[in-house]
Amino acid sequence: MTDTDKVLLVDDSSEARAAMKSALRETFTHFIEADDGLSAIKAFVEEKPCFIITDIEMPSISGYKFITTIRAMEDGRNVPIIMLSGTKQSLKNKLSGFNAGASDFLMKPYEDDELIARVRALLRVHRLMEELKEKNLLLEKLAVTDELTGLYNRRYFFESVKSHMALGLRYHFKIACLLMDIDHFKKINDTCGHMAGDDILRKMGRLLNSCKREGELLARFGGEEFIICLFNTDSESALLAAERFRHLIKSYDFSSALYPSRRITVSVGVSIYPQSRPITIDDLIKTADKAMYQSKADGRDRVTISEEAEPKPAA
Ligand code: GH3
Ligand code: MG
Ligand code: MG
Ligand code: MG
Repeated sequence: MTDTDKVLLVDDSSEARAAMKSALRETFTHFIEADDGLSAIKAFVEEKPCFIITDIEMPSISGYKFITTIRAMEDGRNVPIIMLSGTKQSLKNKLSGFNAGASDFLMKPYEDDELIARVRALLRVHRLMEELKEKNLLLEKLAVTDELTGLYNRRYFFESVKSHMALGLRYHFKIACLLMDIDHFKKINDTCGHMAGDDILRKMGRLLNSCKREGELLARFGGEEFIICLFNTDSESALLAAERFRHLIKSYDFSSALYPSRRITVSVGVSIYPQSRPITIDDLIKTADKAMYQSKADGRDRVTISEEAEPKPAA
């Protein structure tokens, strides 16, 4: 992040820096000064200014090299930079400046009003860009978030697990998929209302999120189903994790004004990747789903793990 009121003035002449400062005293509140390219790079890294005005000819590092260095940094990619040139070869200098990454160019001697106008125009564009960046970040977050629970949604889950599966194959680690489905959830909606159902789904999201461990991927899979992937795990620890979640939910008090009874239980299905044959993410989830239905068939509130038996050795 850059400081929105800070400008970095780079010039080997202290009179030139003083003149810029006086011209821009109403535009910025903080002025950082540097008298050559090297100390300007240091000042940029330490002070994070939101704007740079730089001379071209300076000792040690020139204005061009300074701008190229700033543009190569993550924080310096978008910061507006005005180049000042005092030499006759203005077109050549201008082109070199723009090629290095300058946002604008001004010939010395300049009128203060022109410098102020150019700085303000660049600041306007820069602020719009920052706003757009923030909105894009928000949109990206919304695209991967489940609206009701705030957890990751199914789409994000698929994308993330797919890339983990590729890594799992390469580095030979196992991935466990825990699919959990709330038992008799329809009954809650039917007897206490849809709002009570929503409230329980939100609480469930918060509960799972606060109890999942570092590196475990949790998402709302759909309706009253939640999914958790554990990476670099074996079936024994996956089973332990599934039981940990099941007990946690069973012992949690879900009661509210909308939902007087406190208990909620889940049925869990666990699948492991890779199995002895190549499988896709769809297979992984289908297998967990089948195991989850087995938990339902066996009386609910339980965990079933589906793991392929090792191929029998030939007789
Ligand atoms: P089982 O133990 O077999 O899983 O029974 P169940 O009642 O939980 O399963 P069923 O699939 O019959 O019902 C799931 C219910 O979940 C039906 C649906 O209306 C409800 N549901 C799905 N999404 C939401 C939601 O966002 N909010 C609320 N309140 N209910 C939802
Ligand atoms: Mg100079
Ligand atoms: Mg269901
Ligand atoms: Mg259910």
